[in-house]
Amino acid sequence: MNTSADIDITICEVGLRDGLQNAKNVMTTAAKKAWISQAVKAGMCAIEVCSFVPPKVIRGMEDAKEVVAHSLSEKNLEVSVLSPNFRGAENAFGSLVDKVILPVSISDSHSRANVRKTRAEMIEDFRQVCDARDQLEGEYRPLIEAGLATAFGCTIEGKISERDVLETAVACIEAGADSVILADTCGYANPKQVQRLFKLTKAEVDDALNGVHLHNTYGLGLANAFAAIEAGATRLDSSFAGLGGCPFAPGASGNIVTEDLVHMLEAQGLRTGIDIGELMHCREIIKQALPNDTLYGFLEEAGLPKGFVI
Ligand SMILES: [Zn+2]
Repeated sequence: MNTSADIDITICEVGLRDGLQNAKNVMTTAAKKAWISQAVKAGMCAIEVCSFVPPKVIRGMEDAKEVVAHSLSEKNLEVSVLSPNFRGAENAFGSLVDKVILPVSISDSHSRANVRKTRAEMIEDFRQVCDARDQLEGEYRPLIEAGLATAFGCTIEGKISERDVLETAVACIEAGADSVILADTCGYANPKQVQRLFKLTKAEVDDALNGVHLHNTYGLGLANAFAAIEAGATRLDSSFAGLGGCPFAPGASGNIVTEDLVHMLEAQGLRTGIDIGELMHCREIIKQALPNDTLYGFLEEAGLPKGFVI
């Protein structure tokens, strides 16, 4: 059993949300549960398990409540969900999730395409969600995180101003966020940029900066992960088999590959708390459930290096 003292870098699996929203097939509820349980068995302690969205916006998330209930029955797992709006966040609260992530896109064009609101309107929504959380009765108090989407560039607007990222991070904290995460929604980031923006954001919001969410569009995902860690990040999002993308950011590709990330970190002596052998069993579950999707990953292709010891 892992405790935070045994872990240097926390990896949050986002394949069940980011990955499945772009998959060709709809994954069955049973397969989602099996994936979650296998990931936990491997030592994973944070999973973004689904999103609370209307089925007409993103299919395959109708079982959100059941998936959350299953996830909450697992021990030592932080169960987070994505919600694009107030209604979704309220439903997530009703399911007793540990954390709700709201996307606050720095790019107005992406924000409109993704949630039909400008950045300023999303920050206002964010404030309302935080207020609703603060008015919950009893001891239940879910964490609320702002996912600062397109923080490193946007397929619609191109370059994104760092000043806008920093101002948005501060605005979300002022609105009641427990944390913010820098998201490279489109996979435009490069390692130097990741280091610079991570440090700048850290200087603004300190420990409320909860890590980075990276995509591998240009093959720079792991280099960007390394750069983030060098800059002080202790938490990274990734997706098993590199599933993912953003349906509202044309050209965006999958997330960084969880198992390759675990390998890179463990090879450097950074503890993830994850048993790679156990983790790789997730592949069989996903392969069977998504027969028409491409599964990525160097570790699967090459196997562990000879003599590799975790
Ligand atoms: Zn993403």
